[in-house]
Amino acid sequence: MPNPQPIEWNFKDLVLTDIKKNGGWVNAHAHIDRAFTIRPDSLDIYKKYMLTEKWDIVDAVKNASEDEYYRRISKALELMINQGVTAVGSFIDVDPVAEDRAIKAALRAKEQYKSQITVKLINQTLKGVIEPKARKWFDIGAEMVDIIGGLPKRDERDSGKGEEHFDVLLSTAKKLGKMVHIHVDQFNVQSDKETEMLANKTIEHGMQGKVVAIHSISLACQPKEY
Ligand SMILES: [Zn+2]
Repeated sequence: MPNPQPIEWNFKDLVLTDIKKNGGWVNAHAHIDRAFTIRPDSLDIYKKYMLTEKWDIVDAVKNASEDEYYRRISKALELMINQGVTAVGSFIDVDPVAEDRAIKAALRAKEQYKSQITVKLINQTLKGVIEPKARKWFDIGAEMVDIIGGLPKRDERDSGKGEEHFDVLLSTAKKLGKMVHIHVDQFNVQSDKETEMLANKTIEHGMQGKVVAIHSISLACQPKEY
C-alpha cells in the first residue's frame, strides 16, 4: 500500500487566511456594555429565569459607573481586535437604569480604538419606549447612536403597545436619517408575529433597505402555510 500523502494544509488556517484577506471578521450583534458581567454566583439566576424576567434582572449589572462601563467595553473591544474582528455593531443600554453612563463610555471607547476597529453603536430599549421615563432616555439615546435599536415585546408585554413601539423606532430613525436594528420574535411561539409586523411597518414608514431584524426564531415554528 502506498504511503498516504501527508496533510499539508489545515481547514481552520485556510478559512482564517481568507477572512483576513477579505477584511476580517464582522461582529454584527453584541451587547458589549454587559460583557464580563456573568459570575459563578449569577449563572444560576440566568439559568432559572425567563427572558422577560431577565430584562429587569440585568438592572444589577447596569448600575455600573461610566468608568466601569468603559473598562468592560474596552476589554471586549481589545479581545475582538486580538481575534481579528475589524467591525462590530453593539447594542448599548440607554434607559432609566443605565441612563447615559454606558453610551458615554461606549463613545469614548469608540474614539479610543477607532484606528483598530470600526464600532457602530445601537441603543437598547430594555425598558421600552412608551413609559415617559423610558421614552425620555430613548430620545436621548437616539441622538447619540449610529443605529436605532428596539425591543417591541417589552411594551407589548407591559401595556399591549408593541405596535406603537415599532412606530416610535421607525419614525425616529426616519427623522434622524439612521438605520434600525430590532429584536423580534424571540420566544419561539406561533403567537409571535413581530417579523411580519416589522416588514409591514417598514413599508408603512418608507424605510425599506434600512431595517434589520435580529433573532426572528418564532418564524421557524409557524405552519408552512404562514
Ligand atoms: Zn441583542
